[in-house]
Amino acid sequence: MNYQFNNCEELIALCKQEKLRISDVAIRREMELFKKSRPWVRNKMKAVRDTMKEAIDLGVKSTKKSKYGLVGGDAVKVYKNINKSGKFLHSKVAVRAMAYAIATNEQNARMGKIVAFPTAGGSGVLPAVLFSTFEHMKSSKRKMLNALFTASALGIAILKHGGTFSAAKAGCQAEVGVGVAMAAAGVTEMRGGTPEQCLNASALGLKNMLGLACDPLGGLVEVPCVKRNAIGATIAMAASDMSMMGVESVIPMDQVVEAMMNISASMSETVRETALGGLAVTRVGLKLREKMGLPPIPEKYLDWRNKKPSAKNKCGGCNGCG
Ligand code: SF4
Repeated sequence: MNYQFNNCEELIALCKQEKLRISDVAIRREMELFKKSRPWVRNKMKAVRDTMKEAIDLGVKSTKKSKYGLVGGDAVKVYKNINKSGKFLHSKVAVRAMAYAIATNEQNARMGKIVAFPTAGGSGVLPAVLFSTFEHMKSSKRKMLNALFTASALGIAILKHGGTFSAAKAGCQAEVGVGVAMAAAGVTEMRGGTPEQCLNASALGLKNMLGLACDPLGGLVEVPCVKRNAIGATIAMAASDMSMMGVESVIPMDQVVEAMMNISASMSETVRETALGGLAVTRVGLKLREKMGLPPIPEKYLDWRNKKPSAKNKCGGCNGCG
């Protein structure tokens, strides 16, 4: 049997044909590819899971700042509030996920050990969503591990279908956005969702991250990255909830990936990991850059500040913006 797949359509076809969950296909694919036993494959993923948990456990306790001092200490602030959900708009499971995402990304910014799943910049979303839901549902360790395999299958399908995890190529939609898509699929399987519901959750999640710029202050994976992961985690949870409620994405996941790559082709290099656009060149962004002792941004990238929106640039769609 061949468990390889080149996109989400093939992945779902395999699930249907063999009556398997996405995680089962992912495990069998690894066994086939590396010619290894099931315990070997599962043990590899257990090491991934344990490293994610260590980063969370350290991150929720640490107030240490990153080298340049832009981030550090927010995970503690959020984590302290997980039992006060009545006071906040989000439920305990979502607040805890935000804390876990910030914890992981703050650890990354402190040069701590994390799992780049899918990337270091987007490393907070997946563990945040899965571990918080695992605690909320008092889920089994097996389901937790399976959720990681499901998320990994989504990542493989995205890459095989011509997508990317590279912010230099496609902006933050390819880092935090892909993290959201993977987490949405993983958590949906953990909650008992069908393979179709998992992929649908991914599509709903990624659609809402499309076009996201990569614009980190000073080129460091700190601002806006850390908090972007936290809010990305809540988007993944919302996507999973909607999918479990029967809400369907009109655009299937493979085509959402194509849309991501289509958008990336029209994205300026200034918002593709160069720190020459977006939040990186706001007044605060530039001031902090100077404080960090980084070289100034060439004037040509700051021209936009003198430009007024022209009539030509008006969308003329809903007229809501006047
Ligand atoms: S803004 Fe850029 S560096 Fe930060 S998480 Fe997104 S893609 Fe990564």
